[in-house]
Amino acid sequence: MGLYASNNMLCTQCEAEGFRRITFHPDRPDVLSRYKVRMAGDKTLFPILLSNGNCIAAGEEGNNHWALWEDPWPKPSYLFALVAGDLVVNRDEFVTLSGRKVELGIWVREGDVERTGHAMKALKDSMAWDERVYGREYDLDLFNIVAVSDFNMGAMENKGLNIFNTRYILADPDTATDLDYDGVEGVVAHEYFHNWSGNRVTCRDWFQLSLKEGFTVFRDQNFSADMGSPPVKRIEDVRLLRAAQFPEDAGPLAHPIRPDSYQEISNFYTATVYNKGAEIIRMMATLLGPERFRKGTDLYFDRHDGEAATCEDFVRAMEEGGGIDLTQFRRWYEQAGTPRLKLSLGEADGEWFLDVAQTVPPTPGQPDKRPAMMPLRLAAFAMDGSAQLPDTLAVLSGATQRISLGRFAARPALSVNRGFSAPVIIDFERAPGELAWLAAHDDDPFARYEALQQLMLDTLVAAVSGEKADAGAVIDAIGRTIAAARPIRPSSPKPYCCRARLSSATRC
Ligand SMILES: [Zn+2]
Repeated sequence: MGLYASNNMLCTQCEAEGFRRITFHPDRPDVLSRYKVRMAGDKTLFPILLSNGNCIAAGEEGNNHWALWEDPWPKPSYLFALVAGDLVVNRDEFVTLSGRKVELGIWVREGDVERTGHAMKALKDSMAWDERVYGREYDLDLFNIVAVSDFNMGAMENKGLNIFNTRYILADPDTATDLDYDGVEGVVAHEYFHNWSGNRVTCRDWFQLSLKEGFTVFRDQNFSADMGSPPVKRIEDVRLLRAAQFPEDAGPLAHPIRPDSYQEISNFYTATVYNKGAEIIRMMATLLGPERFRKGTDLYFDRHDGEAATCEDFVRAMEEGGGIDLTQFRRWYEQAGTPRLKLSLGEADGEWFLDVAQTVPPTPGQPDKRPAMMPLRLAAFAMDGSAQLPDTLAVLSGATQRISLGRFAARPALSVNRGFSAPVIIDFERAPGELAWLAAHDDDPFARYEALQQLMLDTLVAAVSGEKADAGAVIDAIGRTIAAARPIRPSSPKPYCCRARLSSATRC
C-alpha cells in the first residue's frame, strides 16, 4: 500500500490505509478534501503522468516535464491515485445524458493496446447503464483506466483514475475464454459504478465497507445480467456465494457484513462483506420492487452526495423512499451465520399450506440469534396441470410462519426461494416425482436449475450406492429445457464464436 515502483512505473494503492504511507494525513474515509496535484519528472523515464480528476496544465523544462491535475470533487484519501510511466493509450469518448463529452483512456504497456477493446466497450456500456438504471451520470471530463500486471488488488476505483490488474482489462479472442470476457466486463463495471456508490457517497468509517461494496457488487451483478442472460448470471452468483461465503459464515471467521470490531481492516475484504452484502441489498430491492427501490436509491444518492455515509443511512433511505419498515431487517447487518429454513407442507380440507421454521446458527461471539426478515418467493403447481399458485412474494419475519398455498386436489410441487430471493439454506423433504416435475416444468429458471441439479445428484447417488437408478427423468427434464430454450442470436446467419462476439459486440 502507498506509492510503489513496479517495472519502471510508479503507482499507488491507497485503500484502505495506504495514503498515510505517502505523507502525513488524517487518513480516514470521512475526511474529504479537494486535491490539486503537480507531478514532475524525467520525461524519458516517465513520459506519462496521471492523477485524479482533470489535467489543467502541463509543460516541459529541459529533460523534465510536469502535469497539474485537479479533482473538483472532495474525496477521502483512500481514493487518491497517481501513475507515472511509459504507457500507451486506447482512446474513445462518451457523451453523457446531459451532453457532457467525456474523454476515455485505457492505458497499458506497448503491445497490449490491441487487447483493450472489450474493456472499452464494457466501460461505455457501464456508463450508459448507470444513467438508464440509476440516473447516475459521470461527472468529470476525463475517465482513465491503467492496467498494471503486478497490481495485486483486483482493481481500484480511484476517482477518475481506476487502476487494474491486467487480467481484468486485457482480453483477446485467441487466448481468453468466455469467463475471462465476463470477468473483464464485470470488473470494469464494478469499478466504474463506484464513482457514485463509493466515491460521490463514501463510507464514514471502515466498519461501513459493505455500504459501498455490497451495493456495488449488487449493481455490477445486475449490469452483467442485463448485458447477457439474467438466469445464467444469477446461477453463477449463487454458486459463488455458496462456494465462498457460506463456508465463511459457517466457520471460525464468521462475521456480520458490518463487523463490530477489527484489528486490520484489510482482513475484512471478504466474501461476506462483498457477496452476502450484495444479497442483503438484493433482498431490500425485492421487498421494495423496482420502482420503490429506485426511489430509495435516488433519495440515498441525493441526500448523501458529497458525504461519508453509513449502512444505516442506506437502510433509512430505503425505508423512506420505499415506504417500508425495515426495523427487523437490520438484523442482517448485525448477525453472522447463514439462516436455515425448515419447510413442511400440510393440508386441511383441500387447502394446502407451507410451514416455515427459521433458525440462524450460533457463530463465534454470537451464541443467540433472532429470526431475520426476508423475502421468500414461491409458487406451487398441481403436477397434472389442474391448479397453480403463481409466483408469490412471502415476507418472513417470525421464527415460525404459515403461508397459505390455496386449493389443490393432491400435494402440489413447491417451487421455493425462486431466483434465490433470500441467501439461506433450505431444508425440505420432497415427495417422489416432485423434483423431476420441477426440473422439467418450473417457470422460474433458477428454481428449475436447482431442481435439475438435485435430481441429477440424487440419480448419481442412487447409482453409486447400488440402488436402482432411473436416468429417464433427468433425460426428460434436459430434453424439455433444450426444447424450450430460445435459439441463441436468432437473427445472426453466422454460427456463434468468441471472435464473432468480440467483433459484432453481441452476447450469447
Ligand atoms: Zn468494490
